Amino acid sequence: MSDVLRGLPAVHRLLEHESLAPYEHLVGRDALRTAIAQELDRVRAAPPMPPLGLLVARISERLDRAVAENLHAVINATGTLLHTNLGRAPLAASALAAAGEAGAGYSNIEYDLIAGERGSRYRRLNAVLREVTGAEDSLVVNNCAAAVLLMLDTLARGAEVIVARSQLIEIGGGFRLPDVLARSGATLVEVGATNKVYVADYAAALSRRTALLMRSHPSNYRIEGFVAEVDAGELVELGTRAGVPVVEDLGSGAVVDLREYGLPHERTVQEALHDGVALAAFSGDKLLGGPQAGIIVGNGAYIARLRGNPLLRALRVDKVTIALLSATLKLYRTKESREQIPLYAMLGASLESLRERAAAYLREAANATIVESTAYLGGGTLPGSGMPSIAVSLRTPYPEELHARLRDRPIPIVARIEENRVLLDLRTIAVQQDGAVLKALASLSE
Ligand SMILES: *Cc1c(COP(=O)(O)O)cnc(C)c1O
Repeated sequence: MSDVLRGLPAVHRLLEHESLAPYEHLVGRDALRTAIAQELDRVRAAPPMPPLGLLVARISERLDRAVAENLHAVINATGTLLHTNLGRAPLAASALAAAGEAGAGYSNIEYDLIAGERGSRYRRLNAVLREVTGAEDSLVVNNCAAAVLLMLDTLARGAEVIVARSQLIEIGGGFRLPDVLARSGATLVEVGATNKVYVADYAAALSRRTALLMRSHPSNYRIEGFVAEVDAGELVELGTRAGVPVVEDLGSGAVVDLREYGLPHERTVQEALHDGVALAAFSGDKLLGGPQAGIIVGNGAYIARLRGNPLLRALRVDKVTIALLSATLKLYRTKESREQIPLYAMLGASLESLRERAAAYLREAANATIVESTAYLGGGTLPGSGMPSIAVSLRTPYPEELHARLRDRPIPIVARIEENRVLLDLRTIAVQQDGAVLKALASLSE
């Protein structure tokens, strides 16, 4: 045996080393053993044996890279509230508690305790959805894309759906309305020009094969200038005369008036129902601030047809989603409880409160200043309209490098770079995370 190999610590000793053993629960025994073995192989191939401390540090480095690949919490300092890459809407504490209860044990999800027999998994959720939106009936599926698919498959398979050209959306993650239409077996009939559509265009396209008139929310783009739209009320009027229902893909699904938060008005679910659309679909994890889900509300007879579609079995939500969504919806009962939904807490935070927290950050950070910033809703909602916010600006000749260091923290911080400055936007940083941000800032000046 060469001297190199004699100096080499045994794998089992390294597995138990105080700096390495804690990785076992982070990456698993196999990955820990592999990282150790790989580093030892490297030493065997290229002696001499480094001091034990250095060897351990190199193994830790390999493991840190593996840990970074795990799913874990990050601090969103980007100022984008519904950041799709960071998991869209954070969930309310009461929703998480309800999910914990529903998930940890058995529940009466599909069991009627009074009758002692099978019940409906949607019944309770339906009650609170009707209460919040005023809808006659509702149905919940896996996401809004699934909701649109289910509506089209149920109501328009083998028939025609009329959609304005300006509303043939593609949103992130490969959801393209024309493709979903094709997949559902419906035929798309496009009307209007890219920028203008009139009721007469829809009327001219009606035929005996028309099953639906459809509106879709242009969530992530805006057509400006020489434009004409047909509002839902007009479309419903046409549909009623022709005996064709109107369905609407609302996308973000506001159930409160966002002007309350200084934002532009976003058409609400209630307004769509008031306009008389037969069905409206929206996401659970955009402006509702709940879990990923697709919610369909509207006319009871159409919802009943959706319920009868065998496809629903493949699109339905589980008990944890039902618990999360029900608890989130209940928070809409009053304005105070609504601000327990993290999205609305963030929207409602005053600039003074953000400035105060920013001032506390400054005590830990060298070369930092407080700046005015613009936060965005994101997630394909209200494109282009920002809201005032406050950020801590870290000036550095190497912003990418500094950002990488922030992402390398035990709770990684994802920030925004603007003109050679790294900005930490206070609006999306939860108050409970301030401590972790302060530690990160202190570590930067070490
Ligand atoms: C976001 C969005 C969808 C997709 O919603 P998911 O819940 O992510 O599936 C569909 N339609 C519109 C108009 C949207 O904005």
